[in-house]
Amino acid sequence: MCGIIGAFSKDDAVSLVVSGLIALQHCGQETFGILTYEGKNRQRFHSHRDRGFVNVDQATIARLAGSVAIGHVRYGTSGGNHLRNAQPFFSETRFGGIGIAHNGNLLNADTIRADHLKRGSRFQSTSDTEVILDLITLSKKETFKESLIDALNKVRGAYSLLVLTEDKHIFCVRDPRGFHPLSLGKKDGYYMLATETCVWNEIGAEYIRELQPGEMIDITEFGYESSFPFEKKGCAHCIFRQVYFARPDSLVDGLQVSASRYRIGKVSAKEAGILYDLSEGLPVEDVYFVSPVPESGIGAAEGFAKQSGLRLKRGLIRKRSYAARTFIQPSEELRVEGARRKYCTDNGVLAGKKVILVDDSIVRGTTFKLLVKMVREAGAKEVHIRISSPPFKHRCIYGIDTPSDEELIASRMDVEEMRKFFSADSLAFVSLDGLRHALGEDTPIEESRYCTACFSKIYPE
Ligand code: AMP
Repeated sequence: MCGIIGAFSKDDAVSLVVSGLIALQHCGQETFGILTYEGKNRQRFHSHRDRGFVNVDQATIARLAGSVAIGHVRYGTSGGNHLRNAQPFFSETRFGGIGIAHNGNLLNADTIRADHLKRGSRFQSTSDTEVILDLITLSKKETFKESLIDALNKVRGAYSLLVLTEDKHIFCVRDPRGFHPLSLGKKDGYYMLATETCVWNEIGAEYIRELQPGEMIDITEFGYESSFPFEKKGCAHCIFRQVYFARPDSLVDGLQVSASRYRIGKVSAKEAGILYDLSEGLPVEDVYFVSPVPESGIGAAEGFAKQSGLRLKRGLIRKRSYAARTFIQPSEELRVEGARRKYCTDNGVLAGKKVILVDDSIVRGTTFKLLVKMVREAGAKEVHIRISSPPFKHRCIYGIDTPSDEELIASRMDVEEMRKFFSADSLAFVSLDGLRHALGEDTPIEESRYCTACFSKIYPE
């Protein structure tokens, strides 16, 4: 998963792109990059790529001149944070300089790369995005646009793409299945593109609309043109973005994400409420309460509390000083240590109480193993876990960083085994039908507009 942004501006596109990338920081924290272009007369591209959180000093901003720019934040797999894989990529081609920023994962990139290597191509990175660039340059089509379409007709998988060309166009494409989002905004009369709409909230741009699956739009400083040059395929938006990945203030695939999560939490409470034990004679609200696992469980916990009539209190606190994701740490010891540093308990809230912890998902199980222990040590009498997604059993191949199937705890254990492993009093997951219902879908799974592969093993081609 990555975040991308493209912007035109009167003279200083880089500032918009830097602010936009900061708004997309949740989409990638491993590397970031910016490519700007000054225009035909100057014929100059400028680029900056670095590791870690988006942080660009004034001297670099001054160097990144130009009225058009694209940017990228990368969220690669553990260990793969080489700078050479940082995007945007830039190449001199028969069409002039081309910059490309990609969010998603291609399924046949390795085969194409091997084939092109045999034919004499050279690559600077191990990223599948460079394969698209190579396909563009090798295409026999005449114009750049035709070559881009030709290249994309040869790849399979997930791509939301921005391509900056020397004649000052940004071509923006969302793959025919629409796995990952791409949104069109407008600021000071210029169109802009970004992975999530939270960018528009943050930089004060107007939200125009989302790109549709299979749509290509060609933006210049004067406006844009839309076309649908690819064969139509069934829609497969990533369902996990609604559950976890998106920022709650984003609008994704027509749904406000915070509202989706609230509804999922309500469904979770309807499907698997708590069997109250009130033998001590106290009212239920004095014994039980709902606590989100912050930040990712907050929306669903609010819905769960509303539906079950329980109070929402913060038994767990995510320390402000801790910003990085623990999930991508390369070893289990580092992940446990990371999770330990990330959370603390509020013992005053937890002591003597029965708590329902609500979170979005369980992947390896590292977090809950630790949290249940911490919450018990804080004096909680019972710990119940409610998860606002189905068991995460299958690896994502379309761009969400997930470990191999064997590392996914739900692929090795059933729900009762997981409950025991976490030492929880109860554990329940939302059903896939329940999740889809919360997102407004009650059709048979074959007709779903979502990619549900991580839960259902149905991988769209
Ligand atoms: P785990 O400790 O492996 O069970 O991690 C589960 C938590 O990590 C979830 O509750 C999410 O908040 C978060 N998470 C889930 N999927 C991802 C992902 N692909 N990348 C980063 N964090 C994730």
